[in-house]
Amino acid sequence: MAQAVKDIPAIDFSEFRKDFPVLHQEVNGKPLVYLDNAASSQMPESVAQRINDYHRNEHANVHRGIHTLSQKATDAFEETRKKVRDFINADSENEIVYTTGTTDSINLVANSYGLSVLKEGDEIILSEMEHHANIVPWQMIAERTGAVIKVIPVTDSGDLDMQAYESLLGERTKIVAVVHVSNALGTVNPVKEITALAHEHDAVVLIDGAQSVPHQPIDVQDIDCDFFAFSAHKMCGPTGFGILYGKMNLLEEMPPYRGGGDMIDKVSFEETTYNVPPFRFEAGTPPIAACIGLGSAIDYLNHIGMDRIANREQELVNHAVSELNKIEGLRFIGNSDRRASVCSFVIDGIHATDIGTILDKQGIAVRTGHHCAQPILRRYNVPSTARASISFYNNEDDIDRLIDGIRYAKSFFE
Ligand code: PLP
Repeated sequence: MAQAVKDIPAIDFSEFRKDFPVLHQEVNGKPLVYLDNAASSQMPESVAQRINDYHRNEHANVHRGIHTLSQKATDAFEETRKKVRDFINADSENEIVYTTGTTDSINLVANSYGLSVLKEGDEIILSEMEHHANIVPWQMIAERTGAVIKVIPVTDSGDLDMQAYESLLGERTKIVAVVHVSNALGTVNPVKEITALAHEHDAVVLIDGAQSVPHQPIDVQDIDCDFFAFSAHKMCGPTGFGILYGKMNLLEEMPPYRGGGDMIDKVSFEETTYNVPPFRFEAGTPPIAACIGLGSAIDYLNHIGMDRIANREQELVNHAVSELNKIEGLRFIGNSDRRASVCSFVIDGIHATDIGTILDKQGIAVRTGHHCAQPILRRYNVPSTARASISFYNNEDDIDRLIDGIRYAKSFFE
């Protein structure tokens, strides 16, 4: 079913495509069609420029320097915290912890919050559609604490079984950690409802927002989640940087995860005391350029408007779903009515890797494999899928090239 596109004034998205130099090249002799945005999105010129400017003109270490250059770097570095606060509507910039990405953010919560609260027999609820980044850290902590992992099953259409979720919740539930948008299925989960139900049982909720932040407006206060994790490189920013949002009352109670410079108050061999959040969780020299790059990426996305981005991507996804549905033998893995910009599919008689390889020969970049989500692929009894993931800078021609490419790949095997 095609999802509704909101009625907001249209703008010409072809203008934004010009901002991405990487898109204007040939791959294997054909104009590039980039449909691997769920793995990493592309970076607009303005963000690349901002990172370059920092390296050329402002580079110095942050926080510790009295000199002007260090002040400049610190100002730009801290400015990103405010931009992130506004972008996800956090209450305070002190609730924005800098990490190296979603994986790091989840490991931080698991090791700091998880390790300090979980006791033997306590329960952590995850879903069957989690990325390995939201499974393995919890398994490691469960092993150390004796906590037990419970899994929300997924329906045939690729939605969370909410009834099963409710029945899993109980007095031993301490943490619920669920993905907002599945990178393997494209399903958008009802995170507000998931959070409200968990809170009825006094459980703390972490939302993996790696695939939602780049594609829709996010309001962490509205969701009311306790933690929210995401990565810069999926939202027009650089690799090696990410965010953990945490409610201040929780961050204040949490012990540090890593020790080193910047995260301390006073250090002596007898006793060391720690800095306040968010600095308590930011040991060592951070990826300063990447942080400033994320600030610039947020400026870029805001300049287009996240509502507009969501709308445009919905148009493109609706087009892709309707055209892919016309291909005989193609089956979606995950076909929820609540789908964001991911189309994951298999084709009778062709291995996903072969589809990916033949598409690449035509300059079309998609991802094939298990998408770091092996449990959900096992649920559908497939070892791998081909995944086309869309961004606002894609267009209908990209989708049509994908469809032609798949038909061509099919013709090889008929
Ligand atoms: N969670 C989801 C849903 C993802 O799609 C990804 C990356 O693909 C991650 C977590 C991990 O993100 P990163 O590798 O940036 O830490």
